[in-house]
Amino acid sequence: MKTFKIGGVHPAENKLSASSPIREAALPKQAVFSMFQHIGAPAKPVVKKGDEVKVGTLLAEAGGFVSAPIHSSVSGKVSKVDVALDASGTRRMAVYVDVEGDEWEESIDRSPALVKLSDRPELDSKAIVEKIKNAGIVGMGGATFPCHVKLSPPPGSKAECVIINAVECEPYLTADHRLMLEHPEEILVGLQLIMKAVGVSKGYIGIENNKPDAIALMTEKAKNYAGIEVVPLKVKYPQGGEKQLIDAVISRQVPAPPAIPISVGAVVQNVGTAFAIYQAVMKNKPLIDRIITVTGKSVKQPSNLLARLGTPFQQLMDECGGLPEDTGKIIGGGPMMGKALLSLDVPMTKGSSGLLIMNDKETRRAEPQPCIRCAKCVSACPMGLEPYLLSKLSATADWEGAEKNDVVSCIECGSCQFTCPSHRPLLDMIRLGKTTVMGIIRSRAAK
Ligand code: SF4
Ligand code: SF4
Repeated sequence: MKTFKIGGVHPAENKLSASSPIREAALPKQAVFSMFQHIGAPAKPVVKKGDEVKVGTLLAEAGGFVSAPIHSSVSGKVSKVDVALDASGTRRMAVYVDVEGDEWEESIDRSPALVKLSDRPELDSKAIVEKIKNAGIVGMGGATFPCHVKLSPPPGSKAECVIINAVECEPYLTADHRLMLEHPEEILVGLQLIMKAVGVSKGYIGIENNKPDAIALMTEKAKNYAGIEVVPLKVKYPQGGEKQLIDAVISRQVPAPPAIPISVGAVVQNVGTAFAIYQAVMKNKPLIDRIITVTGKSVKQPSNLLARLGTPFQQLMDECGGLPEDTGKIIGGGPMMGKALLSLDVPMTKGSSGLLIMNDKETRRAEPQPCIRCAKCVSACPMGLEPYLLSKLSATADWEGAEKNDVVSCIECGSCQFTCPSHRPLLDMIRLGKTTVMGIIRSRAAK
Protein backbone atom coordinates (compact mmCIF):
# COMPACT_ATOMS: atom_id res chain seq x y z
CA MET A 1 0.00 0.00 0.00
CA LYS A 2 1.21 3.51 -0.85
CA THR A 3 2.72 6.00 1.58
CA PHE A 4 5.40 8.72 1.61
CA LYS A 5 9.02 7.65 1.58
CA ILE A 6 10.95 9.72 4.12
CA GLY A 7 10.40 9.58 7.89
CA GLY A 8 7.05 9.54 9.69
CA VAL A 9 5.75 8.19 12.99
CA HIS A 10 2.79 6.22 14.34
CA PRO A 11 1.11 8.04 17.25
CA ALA A 12 -1.86 6.34 18.96
CA GLU A 13 -4.96 7.11 16.89
CA ASN A 14 -7.54 7.73 19.64
CA LYS A 15 -10.34 8.36 17.12
CA LEU A 16 -12.94 8.38 19.90
CA SER A 17 -15.63 10.14 17.87
CA ALA A 18 -15.32 8.11 14.65
CA SER A 19 -18.74 6.52 15.03
CA SER A 20 -20.55 9.70 16.14
CA PRO A 21 -22.72 11.01 13.29
CA ILE A 22 -22.47 14.74 12.58
CA ARG A 23 -24.99 16.68 14.67
CA GLU A 24 -25.93 20.31 14.40
CA ALA A 25 -24.75 22.55 17.23
CA ALA A 26 -27.24 25.03 18.71
CA LEU A 27 -27.13 28.64 17.56
CA PRO A 28 -25.05 30.89 19.82
CA LYS A 29 -26.62 33.91 21.56
CA GLN A 30 -23.85 36.04 20.17
CA ALA A 31 -21.47 35.19 17.31
CA VAL A 32 -18.03 36.79 17.07
CA PHE A 33 -16.28 36.93 13.69
CA SER A 34 -12.53 37.49 13.78
CA MET A 35 -11.10 39.36 10.79
CA PHE A 36 -8.07 37.03 10.98
CA GLN A 37 -9.56 33.69 9.95
CA HIS A 38 -7.17 33.05 7.06
CA ILE A 39 -3.55 33.38 6.03
CA GLY A 40 -2.89 36.73 4.37
CA ALA A 41 -4.26 40.23 4.83
CA PRO A 42 -7.05 40.55 7.44
CA ALA A 43 -10.59 41.11 6.16
CA LYS A 44 -12.02 44.66 6.36
CA PRO A 45 -15.41 45.13 8.07
CA VAL A 46 -18.17 46.56 5.85
CA VAL A 47 -20.84 46.65 8.59
CA LYS A 48 -21.28 48.91 11.61
CA LYS A 49 -23.06 48.81 14.96
CA GLY A 50 -26.82 48.52 14.56
CA ASP A 51 -26.79 46.93 11.09
CA GLU A 52 -29.26 44.06 10.60
CA VAL A 53 -27.74 40.93 9.03
CA LYS A 54 -28.96 37.55 7.81
CA VAL A 55 -27.14 34.24 7.51
CA GLY A 56 -24.88 34.78 4.49
CA THR A 57 -24.70 38.61 4.66
CA LEU A 58 -21.23 39.98 3.91
CA LEU A 59 -19.61 41.26 7.11
CA ALA A 60 -16.12 41.96 5.83
CA GLU A 61 -14.45 42.15 2.42
CA ALA A 62 -11.09 40.62 1.52
CA GLY A 63 -8.15 42.83 2.50
CA GLY A 64 -6.13 41.94 -0.62
CA PHE A 65 -5.63 39.15 -3.18
CA VAL A 66 -4.30 36.79 -0.51
CA SER A 67 -7.24 37.27 1.83
CA ALA A 68 -10.89 36.20 2.07
CA PRO A 69 -14.23 37.85 2.78
CA ILE A 70 -16.24 36.91 5.91
CA HIS A 71 -20.00 36.35 5.99
CA SER A 72 -22.40 36.20 8.89
CA SER A 73 -23.33 32.70 10.05
CA VAL A 74 -26.31 34.02 12.02
CA SER A 75 -29.13 36.53 11.68
CA GLY A 76 -29.50 39.45 14.05
CA LYS A 77 -27.95 42.82 14.77
CA VAL A 78 -24.31 43.94 14.75
CA SER A 79 -23.66 44.94 18.36
CA LYS A 80 -20.11 46.19 17.87
CA VAL A 81 -16.99 46.14 15.74
CA ASP A 82 -14.22 45.79 18.25
CA VAL A 83 -11.29 43.62 19.31
CA ALA A 84 -11.90 40.07 20.59
CA LEU A 85 -9.65 37.35 21.98
CA ASP A 86 -8.97 34.75 19.28
CA ALA A 87 -7.39 31.29 19.24
CA SER A 88 -3.89 32.78 18.89
CA GLY A 89 -4.31 34.38 22.34
CA THR A 90 -4.34 37.90 20.89
CA ARG A 91 -7.05 40.54 20.86
CA ARG A 92 -7.80 41.37 17.27
CA MET A 93 -10.50 43.11 15.25
CA ALA A 94 -13.83 41.29 15.08
CA VAL A 95 -17.52 41.83 14.29
CA TYR A 96 -20.00 40.91 17.06
CA VAL A 97 -23.55 39.90 16.07
CA ASP A 98 -26.37 39.44 18.62
CA VAL A 99 -28.46 36.57 17.32
CA GLU A 100 -32.18 36.97 16.55
CA GLY A 101 -34.00 34.11 14.80
CA ASP A 102 -32.37 32.24 11.93
CA GLU A 103 -33.08 34.10 8.72
CA TRP A 104 -31.02 33.23 5.66
CA GLU A 105 -30.21 35.27 2.55
CA GLU A 106 -32.67 34.17 -0.12
CA SER A 107 -29.91 33.50 -2.64
CA ILE A 108 -28.70 30.46 -0.63
CA ASP A 109 -30.14 27.13 -1.74
CA ARG A 110 -30.79 25.19 1.51
CA SER A 111 -32.36 22.11 -0.10
CA PRO A 112 -30.41 18.85 0.32
CA ALA A 113 -30.84 17.96 -3.40
CA LEU A 114 -27.53 17.14 -5.08
CA VAL A 115 -26.61 19.53 -7.91
CA LYS A 116 -24.33 17.82 -10.43
CA LEU A 117 -21.75 19.41 -12.68
CA SER A 118 -23.88 18.42 -15.69
CA ASP A 119 -26.73 20.53 -14.24
CA ARG A 120 -24.58 23.67 -14.56
CA PRO A 121 -22.85 23.50 -17.97
CA GLU A 122 -22.46 27.31 -18.03
CA LEU A 123 -19.87 27.21 -15.22
CA ASP A 124 -16.41 27.75 -16.67
CA SER A 125 -13.10 27.89 -14.81
CA LYS A 126 -13.26 31.65 -14.24
CA ALA A 127 -16.81 31.54 -12.90
CA ILE A 128 -15.96 28.70 -10.49
CA VAL A 129 -12.89 30.49 -9.08
CA GLU A 130 -14.86 33.74 -8.74
CA LYS A 131 -17.63 32.05 -6.77
CA ILE A 132 -15.08 30.35 -4.49
CA LYS A 133 -13.36 33.70 -3.92
CA ASN A 134 -16.60 35.54 -3.16
CA ALA A 135 -17.74 32.78 -0.77
CA GLY A 136 -14.63 33.22 1.38
CA ILE A 137 -13.45 29.61 1.04
CA VAL A 138 -10.10 28.85 2.66
CA GLY A 139 -8.18 25.61 3.30
CA MET A 140 -10.36 23.78 5.83
CA GLY A 141 -7.69 21.34 6.99
CA GLY A 142 -6.32 24.03 9.27
CA ALA A 143 -3.99 25.83 6.86
CA THR A 144 -6.65 28.49 6.03
CA PHE A 145 -4.89 29.55 2.84
CA PRO A 146 -7.41 31.38 0.61
CA CYS A 147 -8.62 28.81 -1.86
CA HIS A 148 -8.92 30.99 -4.97
CA VAL A 149 -5.18 31.75 -4.79
CA LYS A 150 -4.28 28.07 -5.02
CA LEU A 151 -6.69 27.70 -7.93
CA SER A 152 -4.97 30.50 -9.86
CA PRO A 153 -1.60 28.88 -10.72
CA PRO A 154 1.25 31.38 -11.28
CA PRO A 155 2.31 32.04 -14.89
CA GLY A 156 4.53 29.28 -16.24
CA SER A 157 3.10 26.55 -14.01
CA LYS A 158 0.58 23.99 -15.18
CA ALA A 159 -1.64 21.79 -13.05
CA GLU A 160 -1.79 18.12 -14.06
CA CYS A 161 -3.96 16.69 -11.31
CA VAL A 162 -5.95 17.54 -8.18
CA ILE A 163 -5.37 15.59 -4.98
CA ILE A 164 -7.99 15.65 -2.24
CA ASN A 165 -6.47 15.37 1.20
CA ALA A 166 -8.80 13.01 3.06
CA VAL A 167 -6.02 11.56 5.19
CA GLU A 168 -6.95 13.11 8.54
CA CYS A 169 -3.73 11.77 10.05
CA GLU A 170 -3.94 13.85 13.25
CA PRO A 171 -4.90 11.58 16.15
CA TYR A 172 -8.37 12.19 17.67
CA LEU A 173 -9.84 14.16 14.71
CA THR A 174 -12.72 12.55 12.81
CA ALA A 175 -14.57 15.46 11.13
CA ASP A 176 -13.29 14.60 7.62
CA HIS A 177 -14.03 10.91 8.14
CA ARG A 178 -17.66 11.61 9.04
CA LEU A 179 -18.00 14.10 6.18
CA MET A 180 -17.00 11.38 3.68
CA LEU A 181 -19.49 8.91 5.17
CA GLU A 182 -22.35 11.42 5.18
CA HIS A 183 -21.70 13.59 2.10
CA PRO A 184 -19.68 11.54 -0.42
CA GLU A 185 -21.38 12.85 -3.57
CA GLU A 186 -21.06 16.51 -2.60
CA ILE A 187 -17.32 15.94 -2.09
CA LEU A 188 -17.05 14.28 -5.51
CA VAL A 189 -18.85 17.17 -7.24
CA GLY A 190 -16.59 19.56 -5.28
CA LEU A 191 -13.56 17.72 -6.65
CA GLN A 192 -14.98 17.94 -10.19
CA LEU A 193 -15.36 21.71 -9.72
CA ILE A 194 -11.74 22.05 -8.61
CA MET A 195 -10.61 19.91 -11.57
CA LYS A 196 -12.58 22.13 -13.95
CA ALA A 197 -11.24 25.27 -12.27
CA VAL A 198 -7.61 24.29 -12.88
CA GLY A 199 -8.26 22.52 -16.20
CA VAL A 200 -7.29 18.92 -15.42
CA SER A 201 -9.01 15.60 -16.06
CA LYS A 202 -7.43 13.59 -13.24
CA GLY A 203 -8.43 13.75 -9.58
CA TYR A 204 -7.33 11.61 -6.63
CA ILE A 205 -8.73 11.22 -3.14
CA GLY A 206 -6.07 10.01 -0.68
CA ILE A 207 -7.55 8.19 2.37
CA GLU A 208 -5.61 6.31 5.06
CA ASN A 209 -6.66 2.71 5.53
CA ASN A 210 -7.80 3.25 9.13
CA LYS A 211 -11.02 4.48 7.46
CA PRO A 212 -12.03 1.38 5.45
CA ASP A 213 -15.72 2.38 5.44
CA ALA A 214 -14.89 5.75 3.86
CA ILE A 215 -12.56 4.11 1.32
CA ALA A 216 -15.28 1.61 0.34
CA LEU A 217 -18.04 4.22 0.06
CA MET A 218 -15.99 6.83 -1.82
CA THR A 219 -14.65 4.14 -4.21
CA GLU A 220 -18.17 2.95 -4.95
CA LYS A 221 -19.53 6.46 -5.52
CA ALA A 222 -16.48 7.55 -7.56
CA LYS A 223 -17.35 4.93 -10.22
CA ASN A 224 -19.85 7.45 -11.61
CA TYR A 225 -17.29 10.28 -11.81
CA ALA A 226 -14.87 10.07 -14.76
CA GLY A 227 -11.19 10.58 -13.97
CA ILE A 228 -11.55 10.33 -10.17
CA GLU A 229 -9.65 7.66 -8.29
CA VAL A 230 -9.66 6.83 -4.58
CA VAL A 231 -6.16 5.98 -3.33
CA PRO A 232 -5.98 3.97 -0.06
CA LEU A 233 -2.85 4.89 1.89
CA LYS A 234 -0.91 3.13 4.62
CA VAL A 235 -1.40 4.85 7.99
CA LYS A 236 1.56 7.09 8.76
CA TYR A 237 1.83 10.56 10.30
CA PRO A 238 2.15 13.28 8.83
CA GLN A 239 0.67 11.98 5.57
CA GLY A 240 -1.72 14.96 5.54
CA GLY A 241 1.24 17.29 4.88
CA GLU A 242 0.95 18.46 1.26
CA LYS A 243 4.40 17.27 0.24
CA GLN A 244 3.96 13.90 1.95
CA LEU A 245 0.53 13.39 0.34
CA ILE A 246 1.83 14.23 -3.14
CA ASP A 247 4.70 11.77 -2.67
CA ALA A 248 2.31 9.07 -1.40
CA VAL A 249 -0.32 9.49 -4.13
CA ILE A 250 1.63 10.31 -7.31
CA SER A 251 5.24 9.59 -6.25
CA ARG A 252 6.49 13.11 -7.03
CA GLN A 253 8.73 15.07 -4.69
CA VAL A 254 8.21 18.81 -4.21
CA PRO A 255 11.65 20.49 -3.95
CA ALA A 256 12.56 22.83 -1.06
CA PRO A 257 10.90 26.31 -0.88
CA PRO A 258 10.22 28.43 -2.89
CA ALA A 259 8.91 25.35 -4.82
CA ILE A 260 5.23 24.60 -4.14
CA PRO A 261 2.95 21.66 -5.08
CA ILE A 262 2.06 23.21 -8.45
CA SER A 263 5.80 23.02 -9.27
CA VAL A 264 5.25 19.26 -9.71
CA GLY A 265 1.81 19.68 -11.30
CA ALA A 266 -0.31 19.03 -8.21
CA VAL A 267 -3.12 21.07 -6.65
CA VAL A 268 -3.99 19.79 -3.16
CA GLN A 269 -7.22 20.63 -1.33
CA ASN A 270 -8.65 19.26 1.88
CA VAL A 271 -11.81 17.12 1.71
CA GLY A 272 -13.71 19.68 3.83
CA THR A 273 -12.66 22.36 1.36
CA ALA A 274 -14.05 20.29 -1.54
CA PHE A 275 -17.36 20.11 0.34
CA ALA A 276 -17.35 23.87 1.02
CA ILE A 277 -16.57 24.51 -2.66
CA TYR A 278 -19.56 22.38 -3.67
CA GLN A 279 -21.79 24.40 -1.36
CA ALA A 280 -20.37 27.74 -2.54
CA VAL A 281 -20.61 27.06 -6.28
CA MET A 282 -23.72 24.85 -6.50
CA LYS A 283 -25.74 26.19 -3.55
CA ASN A 284 -24.55 29.82 -3.37
CA LYS A 285 -23.64 29.24 0.26
CA PRO A 286 -20.69 31.22 1.60
CA LEU A 287 -18.44 29.63 4.21
CA ILE A 288 -20.54 30.11 7.35
CA ASP A 289 -20.25 26.76 9.12
CA ARG A 290 -18.02 23.71 9.35
CA ILE A 291 -17.64 20.36 11.05
CA ILE A 292 -15.49 20.33 14.16
CA THR A 293 -14.49 17.35 16.28
CA VAL A 294 -14.86 17.98 20.03
CA THR A 295 -13.04 15.20 21.82
CA GLY A 296 -10.71 13.94 24.53
CA LYS A 297 -10.36 10.89 26.78
CA SER A 298 -12.27 12.55 29.62
CA VAL A 299 -14.89 14.26 27.43
CA LYS A 300 -18.33 12.78 28.17
CA GLN A 301 -19.60 12.80 24.62
CA PRO A 302 -16.87 13.01 21.95
CA SER A 303 -18.69 14.46 18.92
CA ASN A 304 -18.56 15.80 15.40
CA LEU A 305 -20.54 19.03 15.40
CA LEU A 306 -21.75 21.07 12.46
CA ALA A 307 -21.32 24.49 14.05
CA ARG A 308 -21.76 28.05 12.85
CA LEU A 309 -18.58 30.12 12.63
CA GLY A 310 -18.32 32.58 15.49
CA THR A 311 -19.82 30.17 18.05
CA PRO A 312 -17.83 30.27 21.32
CA PHE A 313 -15.84 27.09 22.03
CA GLN A 314 -17.37 27.08 25.51
CA GLN A 315 -20.80 26.42 24.01
CA LEU A 316 -19.48 23.54 21.85
CA MET A 317 -17.82 22.07 24.93
CA ASP A 318 -21.09 22.30 26.89
CA GLU A 319 -22.86 20.43 24.11
CA CYS A 320 -20.43 17.54 24.58
CA GLY A 321 -20.84 17.24 28.36
CA GLY A 322 -18.85 20.23 29.64
CA LEU A 323 -15.19 20.73 30.42
CA PRO A 324 -13.87 17.66 32.31
CA GLU A 325 -12.53 18.21 35.82
CA ASP A 326 -9.15 16.68 35.02
CA THR A 327 -8.48 19.00 32.04
CA GLY A 328 -4.77 19.62 31.63
CA LYS A 329 -4.70 21.38 28.28
CA ILE A 330 -7.18 22.72 25.72
CA ILE A 331 -6.00 22.41 22.15
CA GLY A 332 -7.38 23.97 18.98
CA GLY A 333 -6.81 21.26 16.34
CA GLY A 334 -5.16 17.89 16.87
CA PRO A 335 -2.50 16.85 19.40
CA MET A 336 0.42 16.90 16.95
CA MET A 337 0.00 20.23 15.14
CA GLY A 338 -2.73 21.96 17.15
CA LYS A 339 -2.13 25.01 19.32
CA ALA A 340 -2.89 25.32 23.03
CA LEU A 341 -5.80 27.66 23.81
CA LEU A 342 -5.71 30.00 26.78
CA SER A 343 -9.47 29.93 27.21
CA LEU A 344 -12.71 28.47 25.85
CA ASP A 345 -14.02 31.99 25.51
CA VAL A 346 -12.80 32.09 21.93
CA PRO A 347 -14.97 31.90 18.79
CA MET A 348 -14.78 29.11 16.27
CA THR A 349 -13.23 30.14 12.93
CA LYS A 350 -12.89 28.76 9.40
CA GLY A 351 -9.79 26.75 10.38
CA SER A 352 -11.25 25.11 13.53
CA SER A 353 -11.00 21.40 12.75
CA GLY A 354 -10.93 20.21 16.35
CA LEU A 355 -11.28 21.09 20.01
CA LEU A 356 -9.23 18.58 21.98
CA ILE A 357 -9.25 18.31 25.75
CA MET A 358 -6.18 16.53 27.08
CA ASN A 359 -6.31 15.38 30.66
CA ASP A 360 -3.68 16.03 33.35
CA LYS A 361 -2.05 12.67 32.84
CA GLU A 362 -1.66 13.07 29.09
CA THR A 363 -0.23 16.57 29.32
CA ARG A 364 2.41 15.84 31.93
CA ARG A 365 5.69 16.42 30.10
CA ALA A 366 8.70 14.37 31.10
CA GLU A 367 11.77 16.37 32.17
CA PRO A 368 14.04 16.99 29.11
CA GLN A 369 17.31 15.05 29.26
CA PRO A 370 20.57 15.69 27.36
CA CYS A 371 20.63 14.61 23.71
CA ILE A 372 22.09 11.10 23.41
CA ARG A 373 22.71 11.48 19.65
CA CYS A 374 20.55 8.51 18.79
CA ALA A 375 19.38 10.17 15.51
CA LYS A 376 15.80 8.98 16.01
CA CYS A 377 14.58 12.51 15.28
CA VAL A 378 16.46 12.45 11.97
CA SER A 379 14.86 9.15 10.95
CA ALA A 380 11.40 10.47 11.89
CA CYS A 381 11.64 13.80 10.05
CA PRO A 382 9.51 13.63 6.87
CA MET A 383 11.41 16.59 5.40
CA GLY A 384 14.84 14.99 5.69
CA LEU A 385 16.04 17.62 8.19
CA GLU A 386 18.30 17.25 11.23
CA PRO A 387 15.99 18.30 14.09
CA TYR A 388 18.59 17.93 16.90
CA LEU A 389 20.87 20.33 15.00
CA LEU A 390 18.13 22.84 14.10
CA SER A 391 17.02 22.88 17.72
CA LYS A 392 20.57 23.54 18.89
CA LEU A 393 21.08 26.31 16.31
CA SER A 394 17.85 27.99 17.47
CA ALA A 395 18.82 27.66 21.12
CA THR A 396 22.13 29.45 20.39
CA ALA A 397 20.46 32.04 18.12
CA ASP A 398 22.62 30.92 15.19
CA TRP A 399 20.10 32.07 12.57
CA GLU A 400 22.60 31.89 9.71
CA GLY A 401 23.28 28.25 10.56
CA ALA A 402 19.56 27.53 10.89
CA GLU A 403 18.89 29.03 7.46
CA LYS A 404 21.77 27.07 5.89
CA ASN A 405 20.33 23.89 7.38
CA ASP A 406 16.96 24.64 5.81
CA VAL A 407 14.88 25.38 8.91
CA VAL A 408 12.23 26.99 6.66
CA SER A 409 11.42 23.56 5.18
CA CYS A 410 10.16 22.36 8.59
CA ILE A 411 6.42 21.66 8.36
CA GLU A 412 6.08 21.77 12.18
CA CYS A 413 4.67 18.25 12.27
CA GLY A 414 6.21 17.42 15.66
CA SER A 415 7.38 13.94 14.59
CA CYS A 416 10.89 14.69 15.89
CA GLN A 417 9.68 15.69 19.34
CA PHE A 418 7.27 12.75 19.47
CA THR A 419 10.07 10.28 18.83
CA CYS A 420 12.81 11.77 21.02
CA PRO A 421 13.69 9.43 23.92
CA SER A 422 15.25 12.36 25.80
CA HIS A 423 11.98 14.35 25.64
CA ARG A 424 13.75 17.37 24.15
CA PRO A 425 11.43 20.28 23.22
CA LEU A 426 12.58 20.08 19.62
CA LEU A 427 9.46 21.49 17.96
CA ASP A 428 9.29 24.54 20.22
CA MET A 429 12.89 25.45 19.45
CA ILE A 430 12.63 24.73 15.72
CA ARG A 431 9.43 26.80 15.44
CA LEU A 432 11.29 29.72 17.02
CA GLY A 433 14.15 29.26 14.53
CA LYS A 434 11.80 29.00 11.56
CA THR A 435 9.82 32.13 12.49
CA THR A 436 12.99 34.15 13.04
CA VAL A 437 14.68 33.00 9.83
CA MET A 438 11.54 33.65 7.78
CA GLY A 439 11.45 37.19 9.21
CA ILE A 440 15.11 37.68 8.23
CA ILE A 441 14.41 36.39 4.69
CA ARG A 442 11.40 38.72 4.33
CA SER A 443 13.28 41.81 5.46
CA ARG A 444 16.20 40.93 3.14
CA ALA A 445 13.78 40.67 0.22
CA ALA A 446 12.20 44.02 1.11
CA LYS A 447 15.53 45.88 0.91
S1 SF4 B 1 8.71 19.32 13.18
FE1 SF4 B 1 10.06 19.94 11.49
S2 SF4 B 1 12.05 19.15 12.06
FE2 SF4 B 1 10.55 18.08 13.35
S3 SF4 B 1 10.07 16.22 12.21
FE3 SF4 B 1 8.55 17.74 11.57
S4 SF4 B 1 9.44 18.68 9.74
FE4 SF4 B 1 11.11 17.60 10.78
S1 SF4 C 1 15.97 11.99 19.09
FE1 SF4 C 1 16.45 13.32 20.84
S2 SF4 C 1 18.16 12.30 21.84
FE2 SF4 C 1 18.00 11.39 19.79
S3 SF4 C 1 19.38 12.67 18.52
FE3 SF4 C 1 17.36 13.57 18.35
S4 SF4 C 1 17.35 15.15 19.94
FE4 SF4 C 1 19.03 13.77 20.43
